[in-house]
Amino acid sequence: MNKPKIVILGAGYGGIITSKKLEKLLKSGEADVTLINKHEYHYITTQLHKTGAGTAADRQIAMEIPELINEQKTNFIKGSVTSVDVKKQAVYLEDGESVEYDYLLIALGFDIETFGIPGIKEHAFAIRSFRSTKAIYNQITRQLTQYKEDKDPSRLTFVVAGGGFTGVEMLGELAEGLPKLCKKYDVPYEEVKIVTVEAAPSVIPFFPKESIQYTTEVLEKFNINMYMSTKILECTPDKVVLENNIEIPTRTLIWSCGVKGNPIVQNCGLPVEKGKLPVDPYLRVKDTNNIFSIGDCSLFMKDEKNALPPTAQVALQEADVCAKNIVAALRGETLKAFEYHHKGSVASIGNFAAVGKVGNFRLSGLFAAFMKQVIEARYLLNLGGPSLIIKQHFGVSKEPV
Ligand code: FAD
Ligand code: NAD
Repeated sequence: MNKPKIVILGAGYGGIITSKKLEKLLKSGEADVTLINKHEYHYITTQLHKTGAGTAADRQIAMEIPELINEQKTNFIKGSVTSVDVKKQAVYLEDGESVEYDYLLIALGFDIETFGIPGIKEHAFAIRSFRSTKAIYNQITRQLTQYKEDKDPSRLTFVVAGGGFTGVEMLGELAEGLPKLCKKYDVPYEEVKIVTVEAAPSVIPFFPKESIQYTTEVLEKFNINMYMSTKILECTPDKVVLENNIEIPTRTLIWSCGVKGNPIVQNCGLPVEKGKLPVDPYLRVKDTNNIFSIGDCSLFMKDEKNALPPTAQVALQEADVCAKNIVAALRGETLKAFEYHHKGSVASIGNFAAVGKVGNFRLSGLFAAFMKQVIEARYLLNLGGPSLIIKQHFGVSKEPV
């Protein structure tokens, strides 16, 4: 009898952890597992802002997938998924290859929400992937180099759009990283302007007011110019246009105004709601019994009105249950309903400050920054054990890309 084929699309938080759990749960020879990802490396999405500001080595953020999985148990294909044919039970890749499945997990993550604002897609820099944040770093260093030639101040103005968690983490990293880069490129840091623009009345508007105040004070200490209650209306190669007739001359707009589901899910012949794949309590895509979806490209309703947010925390908890349910499905056993347990949120503002909330407790300052590092280290531990933590921090490995 042919072994059932399990195919996982996306080796981000949800996909790679599901594949690692399957390696443990499946008996030898029970199924063939294939993991498909656009790049040969897995990146730590929660730390992409560090790649953008150049405050972390590439090997700390992006790591070779074959080194993270057990290649005896999981077949890895580097390929870009373009569509899924549910009738033929096949996945299609950009290079024309197709891969058949019996059980499919779609964990293709997020894309950037631009709200159709003119010029964002063309001229802004996105915090989306390792490659896109490497492009931010390259843009910054190019501007520092060119400033020495033409002394155009717009080259030293770096604008971060959106003061949600991603924006705040990016600002903190820029404030810590730019002084070092300026020194390296021999540009006076006093000439640099870091600007944030947020449509709501404050940064992290969804957090308690004490946390907002703390974050605002840290950003002010970093000399960050803040435009609150102000929307970005347009971006061109050399300026950003804001509401109230404000124009900021800049070559670098870093866009962190929210995310949406990966648009590839629209090419899967599956139901799509709010741009994502709606899933049942067992993480199966609505109206299917062999297709699962987790993470930022799936829509899990925690009650009638509210969906779970697009966070790594959600993707990781889903991965655990999803792996068990895929195995249960192929063994003809009962599936387990997914229950989300929110453990809190912590956002860094550079290396030495952070802000967070765990249950009813508000965290801030150095302790919160330490907690953030513990959370990140726990993920690495889950992914590759203590040896991965040591390798990521002290090792020398091939730099991806
Ligand atoms: P992803 O991790 O995005 O993985 C998707 C994978 O699919 C990627 O490997 C990608 O290359 C691959 N892929 C995409 N398209 C294709 C294709 N067509 N073919 C093949 N492969 C493809 N959440 C938290 O809970 N805590 C945090 O501290 C936190 N910090 C964050 C900081 C930043 C800067 C950002 C941007 C996000 C942060 N988040 C955080 C959110 C979190 O990173 C996401 O919710 C999480 O990555 C979602 O996991 P995922 O597996 O759904 O998608
Ligand atoms: P977000 O949706 O949380 O924040 C986007 C911000 O951009 C909002 O405050 C919004 O008011 C603002 N905005 C939207 N359009 C604008 C415009 N035209 N001009 C100016 N401002 C505008 O998005 P995010 O920060 O990218 O976060 C995405 C997801 O990732 C969230 O679920 C978040 O919780 C998660 N995340 C978590 C962490 C963490 O836990 N440390 C860090 C980063 C991201």
